[in-house]
Amino acid sequence: MGRIVLDKVTKRFGSVEVIPPLDLTIEDGEFTVFVGPSGCGKSTLLRLIAGLEDLSSGKIEIDGSDVSAVPPAKRGLAMVFQSYALYPHMSVRKNIAFPLRMAKLDQAEIDRRVSNAAQVLNLTDYLDRRPGQLSGGQRQRVAIGRAIVREPSAFLFDEPLSNLDAALRVGMRLEISELHKRLETTMIYVTHDQVEAMTMADKIVVLRAGNIEQVGSPLDLYNQPRNRFVAGFIGSPR
Ligand code: ADP
Ligand code: MG
Repeated sequence: MGRIVLDKVTKRFGSVEVIPPLDLTIEDGEFTVFVGPSGCGKSTLLRLIAGLEDLSSGKIEIDGSDVSAVPPAKRGLAMVFQSYALYPHMSVRKNIAFPLRMAKLDQAEIDRRVSNAAQVLNLTDYLDRRPGQLSGGQRQRVAIGRAIVREPSAFLFDEPLSNLDAALRVGMRLEISELHKRLETTMIYVTHDQVEAMTMADKIVVLRAGNIEQVGSPLDLYNQPRNRFVAGFIGSPR
């Protein structure tokens, strides 16, 4: 579960075509990174997959079903934003449980999922704290915890580490990679940071002005960049 297919997807804002017709397949369990300069359409593409923006044309399939008209909450995906969007007045436990309470799961199931997520993310000792009493890294983990408890078929991350300082970013990068190994769930990760892309991705999608310049493994892109833009962006000497 977690294969995502974009079929001739386009997005226009008014008369501006931000995403020209785009085809992309993300395999089940793959860690895919969308990388490219600011304004190239990474967030828009992720929001289209999440259902937070409507397609202008084309089709998105998840595990073989057309979800183009399916609302975000019913796509089985979980999005993690760069601003943590935690509720300051709620405990960590309640923040993590929030989507499950909304979905009206029973309390025993909520408790089970919250304690699993807390364990995976090393938050067990912090469940009764408020977000304001946590470090930036811990807050980001709570945001990820809130995604994990939904047991999504894919996680969508939009520059989740850009608010953290450099040292913490390295640590969280490793944690997210570990999480991916552990859960084996599809993850799509948006960043403008080449190092994050090269170290985290199974597959990198290089975007420029809404176009896919190249798709491949970090090694492929490094060894065989298709053009100067990719070479420059990925940092290989060609
Ligand atoms: P990235 O995440 O790669 O920085 P975005 O997907 O946010 O890029 O934006 C891609 C382009 O679409 C930019 O030119 C941006 O100004 C434009 N854009 C994004 N959202 C909107 C919107 N709601 N209305 C109009 N233009 C938008
Ligand atoms: Mg963005």
